[in-house]
Amino acid sequence: GQLDVLDIAVLVLILLATGAYFTKGSLWAVEEKEDRYKNGFGNESSSLSADARNVVAALEENGKDVIIFYGSQTGTAEDYATRISKEASQKYGLATMTADIEDYDFENLDKVPSDKVIVFVMATYGEGEPTDNAVQFWEFINDEDVEFSEDSSLKNLKYVVFGLGNSTYEHYNLIGRSLDKKLQSLGAHRIGPYGEGDDGAGSMEEDYLAWKEELFPTWQKEEGLEEHEAVYEPVLEIVDSEDSGDSVFLGEFNKAQLQGVVKGPFSVSNPYAAPVAAAREMFNSPDRNCIHMEFDISDSGLKYNTGDHLALLAQNSDDEVTKFLKIFGLEDKRNSVIDVKTLDSTAKVPFPTPTTYDAVIRYHLEINGHVSRQLLSSIAPFAPSEDAKKTAMRLGSSKEEFASKIAQKYYNLAKALDVISEGVAWKNVPFSFIVESVNHLIPRYYSISSSSKENPSTISITAVVESIQADKESDYVLKGVATNYILDVKNGLDGKRKACTYQIEGPRNSLEGKKIPMFVRHSNFKLPSNPQKPIIMIGPGTGVAPFRAFVHERATLAAKGTPIGPALLFFGCRSSKEDFLYEEEWTQYSKDTPDDLIKYLEDEGRSPLTESSFLKLETAFSRETSQKVYVQHRLKEHAKLVNKLLKSGAFFYVCGDAQRMARDVQSTLIDIISEQRSISRSKAEDVVKNMRTQNLYQEDVW
Ligand code: FAD
Repeated sequence: GQLDVLDIAVLVLILLATGAYFTKGSLWAVEEKEDRYKNGFGNESSSLSADARNVVAALEENGKDVIIFYGSQTGTAEDYATRISKEASQKYGLATMTADIEDYDFENLDKVPSDKVIVFVMATYGEGEPTDNAVQFWEFINDEDVEFSEDSSLKNLKYVVFGLGNSTYEHYNLIGRSLDKKLQSLGAHRIGPYGEGDDGAGSMEEDYLAWKEELFPTWQKEEGLEEHEAVYEPVLEIVDSEDSGDSVFLGEFNKAQLQGVVKGPFSVSNPYAAPVAAAREMFNSPDRNCIHMEFDISDSGLKYNTGDHLALLAQNSDDEVTKFLKIFGLEDKRNSVIDVKTLDSTAKVPFPTPTTYDAVIRYHLEINGHVSRQLLSSIAPFAPSEDAKKTAMRLGSSKEEFASKIAQKYYNLAKALDVISEGVAWKNVPFSFIVESVNHLIPRYYSISSSSKENPSTISITAVVESIQADKESDYVLKGVATNYILDVKNGLDGKRKACTYQIEGPRNSLEGKKIPMFVRHSNFKLPSNPQKPIIMIGPGTGVAPFRAFVHERATLAAKGTPIGPALLFFGCRSSKEDFLYEEEWTQYSKDTPDDLIKYLEDEGRSPLTESSFLKLETAFSRETSQKVYVQHRLKEHAKLVNKLLKSGAFFYVCGDAQRMARDVQSTLIDIISEQRSISRSKAEDVVKNMRTQNLYQEDVW
């Protein structure tokens, strides 16, 4: 959520927060907070930081009717919050603001006047957890000792909740659902239906649209609001700037970077430009690419642990930037310098300024991403002709037509508008509208495929290049933003760049020498602390990335004389000739592995495993047999071994596709446990649940 905010205001906030963190115990003592908990709420704290975090004050000082909080991890919840804010303001003239839920305290939720409305847009993350920015709020709202007002109720509070979740996970939308229940139980008044969206079914956008179509009329009735004809009211103002030269941001992330200063800590607003030390193609295929890329972090001070993620800050391709400029008639202004101002005290400028149209489009907007039906409706008034306007309106209101003519063709915004207006430029669309409506480019994450024990100063990733040609008749191809960027950098290293080029030398050549902006995100996906514990790893496709790291780590330990436990790896792909990742590496760790690992495990007097004997690899090549074989089938075939390893304390890991694979694997494991231990399926389900709570079952899925 907070990820895509890069403006100075946020930097200041980060500085303040960092300051506050280091002064914890003196300035905003933890104890003081605990005292406030004990005394119940209502005692207004006099400290400045508490005031800035006061919801009631924020609403009143900014003259707002509605505040929309987001608990966001990747930015989606934040985007929906912004959309609700805009729609409520344009439809009913309500004064609205959005806010990161992390930036506020909620002790005085009972003091929110009844003419205000609070909207919560809350994503559920991982195993039913709140997003990082909502952890504090979540703990507070679930604290049994919290008492609101005399009768401990929130009867004045008017609210509504939209949850974002993924139904392939067990705790689907847990945060949204429980928040709604909790607020209901505290007597708060919900002004519309509870809503939720499902990323797992791929219906998030349509779920949101269906919900808000119900919400707004109910809200209108409840509050007696008057509906206006929705007109676009800008929140940002784009003005020509007098600035030129060194003070203009051409894609640099912050002021220090603009001045050429490289200094950590590295994050989304201050990534490290890491030199690419090596890159190689992993597939043997005429039309598919997978790249193993190594980043040199030796000069960065960055540290990582095996199992962490690398976050990569991508940019848009030359071709897509040009098409985007062209469809809005901005080509001539590409390098004009602009300033962006906020017209609302609570709005934020989402990138550093002054800057140029090219830099905004290339480095800050998700121009290649999904087009939403709602965007087509709201952009329609700016269409270049009556016909284009009608078509945009129609596509915006018809779910079916939109699906067949835009979504299923994977059109991005430039392509969709080009088709709607039959090639005529949309010159009337204000640039502020574009910046406010198009999502911000967010980092792409990759499971690190190197071991920090083996290689503390090199990070490698393993990425499949996304390229989708939905309609074979048309020459339109949707190119994944980050992976084609990686491919272009790799081609650059090889000295033969092809189509789909990027500004790989970066703004002011700051990425010259093949550097890519990145930072490390720590994860909980970790090897057992005891290296003797057996591990079972399920990693089809690029899901094998972190397991390469795990295997390398164990081999490194073994080479140093540390006793290690056995590792069982299930890998799947199309064919042994085309996309068998790291084929040559696995053999060296499994050279002397006993064929019958079960017998070996049963033999008390066995000799210890070595770096050439600890791995057993099982493969599933889906296109080599008449019946498709997947990793879960292989897992089933090895039921006895799997159960044996689990009985001796094995950790079970799954990485890769969240949509189906992870669920199928879990279901297969439940079958195995049920059969091998002669227990009911529901008992076996409990065993797996327990494994999860004890971290013996870990997932890294996307
Ligand atoms: P994007 O541009 O983001 O497109 C991705 C997909 O979105 C497209 O293929 C398409 O299905 C859809 N899409 C985009 N635009 C449109 C449109 N206009 N219309 C319709 N559909 C559209 N990937 C790896 O290869 N290896 C890893 O080890 C790995 N680890 C990961 C770990 C984590 C924790 C997470 C969250 C993800 C991981 N991923 C990994 C996935 C990776 O982050 C990227 O999502 C992936 O590489 C695609 O990025 P991209 O920018 O190239 O594609």
